[in-house]
Amino acid sequence: MEHDKDIQTTQRGFHCNLCIVNIPNKPSLDDHVKGKKHQHLLRLRAQRKAQEENSVFVSGFKPDTSQTDLKEYFAQFGPVSDVIMDKHKGVYAIVEFSEPQNAQAVLAQLEHQLDGLKLRVKPRERKEFKLATRGKQDSKNTQISLDRLNNELLKATSVNEQMQKVVDSFELKENEKKVRDLLVQLLQEVFTEFFPDCQIVPFGSSVNTFGIHSCDLDLFLDLENTKAFQACAKSSEATGENQSEDCHSEDSILSDIDLSTASPAEVLELVAVILRKCVPGVHKVQTLSTARLPVVKFSHRELNLHGDITINNRLAVRNTRFLQLCSGIDSRLRPLVYTIRLWAKQKQLAGNLSGPGPLLNNYALTLLVIFYLQNRDPPVLPSVNHLKNMACEEEECVIEEWDCTFPSQPFIVPSSKNTEDLCTLLFGFFTFYSKFDFSASVVCLRDGHVLPITDFLRRDEEAVDTAEASGPKPKRSSAPKLGPMNVLDPFEQNHNVAGNLNERTQKNFKRECCEAEKYCRSLQYQRKSTKGKSWGLVRLFAPLSEAGPRSQVETEKIMEVSIPFKAAVLPEPLRAQLALAGKSFRSIWFAKICSAVHTVFHEILKCSPLEETQTVAATTQDKAETEGNEMEVNNNQSVEDSGSQAKSETGKKRPLTVDEEEEEGPSTSTVIEAKRQRLDADMEHPEPVHWTWSQGNRVWAGRRKVRRDLLKTSDETSKPEGGCIDIESRVTQSIVEKEEKLQELLEFKVDAEVVGGNQSTKVVLRFHPSHDTTGVFQDFFHFLESFLPKMAETILGRAGS
Ligand code: ATP
Ligand code: MG
Repeated sequence: MEHDKDIQTTQRGFHCNLCIVNIPNKPSLDDHVKGKKHQHLLRLRAQRKAQEENSVFVSGFKPDTSQTDLKEYFAQFGPVSDVIMDKHKGVYAIVEFSEPQNAQAVLAQLEHQLDGLKLRVKPRERKEFKLATRGKQDSKNTQISLDRLNNELLKATSVNEQMQKVVDSFELKENEKKVRDLLVQLLQEVFTEFFPDCQIVPFGSSVNTFGIHSCDLDLFLDLENTKAFQACAKSSEATGENQSEDCHSEDSILSDIDLSTASPAEVLELVAVILRKCVPGVHKVQTLSTARLPVVKFSHRELNLHGDITINNRLAVRNTRFLQLCSGIDSRLRPLVYTIRLWAKQKQLAGNLSGPGPLLNNYALTLLVIFYLQNRDPPVLPSVNHLKNMACEEEECVIEEWDCTFPSQPFIVPSSKNTEDLCTLLFGFFTFYSKFDFSASVVCLRDGHVLPITDFLRRDEEAVDTAEASGPKPKRSSAPKLGPMNVLDPFEQNHNVAGNLNERTQKNFKRECCEAEKYCRSLQYQRKSTKGKSWGLVRLFAPLSEAGPRSQVETEKIMEVSIPFKAAVLPEPLRAQLALAGKSFRSIWFAKICSAVHTVFHEILKCSPLEETQTVAATTQDKAETEGNEMEVNNNQSVEDSGSQAKSETGKKRPLTVDEEEEEGPSTSTVIEAKRQRLDADMEHPEPVHWTWSQGNRVWAGRRKVRRDLLKTSDETSKPEGGCIDIESRVTQSIVEKEEKLQELLEFKVDAEVVGGNQSTKVVLRFHPSHDTTGVFQDFFHFLESFLPKMAETILGRAGS
């Protein structure tokens, strides 16, 4: 088969050279080669091959020769389907015929002449068909500098020295900074012509001390003073006074636009026109007015720079100052950030290549490093709240209602008592995040510690209440967008800077941290090889493809399916319930998932129960729900009595507290509190649940087709697999009625447990078939791997509606 040569067997599965993807196992490989992408690329390759065989490469004609002239000349050999001229017309052309024999006929003729000139005719060059990957050039350049860097790293004597070398080879050098300054100056001059008193302020990696050679130039066009200027000019006009000196009387673009009422898109359009027409060397100007922060992108030809101009980005200028400050407070931050950025890039975890994507951006990654350093023992960096307390009055700063106060100078901040070296701190970073419960925690640099996600489910509720009660919502009251990874911006406290990440990126980040952590434990990381082998950072920076596809082998062997806790997709009533549950939220959620999983096996896939401890789940749920109700009552009291809120030993707010000293003897609240504490302990680690099921049909086979047929004859709108309970039950029913039964009943056990705390919160389901000599259960399991989590999510959503 043709795809055989495209598929390569690797240590951890397969690799498709055509689509450039890793595939973990045979069933996925079969799906992959039948899939849309692979099939599309096969067709495209066949089409390109035919085009190559049907065409010839022609040069030597006059510069003014047209496509029609060439078409007419070559038509004598057969019908010409296309003539493609090169960009700078007149150098070469590709003449394409409808049949390969026409091209052969052209090549067979020894001499060709057009307008008295001898044409050179060659077979068309055969290019290897390769998927054009975005940022190919970029990764090629990185690879070259990485190869050079690796040579340098091998010469170092310690990991500490290696990390310093990473900084040396990537950081922006003085001359590069000067070039950037010059461009800023030039833009300042040009823009001042059009927007009197405006300011061009650089921010981002060019100035935050973490810049690398190729980083973009982020600029903020501050029009505050220009607005004041325009207002002043307008009022003088209205009163008929002569324009004062202060209001600069020269003509400007401001007669065309009213900055107090113009939309950001209108202003940026103007900025784009100025860039295009008035700034020498600028090209590729593009306005993205629908981005979260509308922006004009541009490049500078001679300086080989890419830039961004935004107009409403004061917070970014301020957070840039914050990063600069952190660098100044502790010199270990820079080498750590440079090293971790490079590691993350190599592992395809960070650096979205063309604009927004599901990977971490460099800002979010840097915040993760700072947060880790705030959590070292003793801390390397202080929390943002601590920094705020060190600032003086003049340093107070509020932007868009957010408190952005911190000292302007690093020497105000006392030196850290932490003396760990870079090698240890890097190892610690991987350990910290390999054990991090991303699903249930929120990274908060403001407080310098983790906040439970339940706090944010509640905040969301409160935000809704506030909005309902008092009309328009104040900016601060809206909740952050919760996702698989939650990193609060240190200033804009309802902005999740990792809100763009998807489940897969979060998992990959964690998995790579685990792998790096494992490697850092080895001697190869810590000690220079005496035999010239790669050691230290060199192995850490091995790109993903070299290290092989991400390991799925272990999960396959154990037959395990995980259902992650996804705060973002929980139905509203459940969010409210979990928000009040404190530490017990895992138990309540676990009970809901168990009930959903039971529904999937019993009602949707029509499995028969042989034995179950569903009662355990039911009891857990009952307990949790009853307690949730009690808590709700009591929590309302404690919310009103806000002064009585205390802190637990980890510094987390406890939703339920009473001022015990006020009461003589145990009050009702104290009893509830005591009961809750007991329950908390139980509920933090609820008992696992077990079921044994049997299945007599191949309910997994051919579901897509059955679903399609069913949808054709029903009014239901199309839903993806696992998206609708009713349709999926009917699909199973139809298979059970129409298809042959399995020769032997499938019997299997399922153990379910909830994990979290020092790993991502999730329900883990382990499958144990009683016997599976024919591999039938393996097929069923592969189906369940994707079906079960999707279906459970749908059922949970339904429960909330
Ligand atoms: P690089 O350009 O090298 O990838 P960078 O730090 O300049 O790194 P950009 O994506 O260009 O990253 O962003 C520029 C600046 O804008 C950041 O340094 C940060 O100050 C701010 N910024 C970027 N993303 C966010 C975000 N999600 N939330 C808040 N501020 C952000
Ligand atoms: Mg940048």
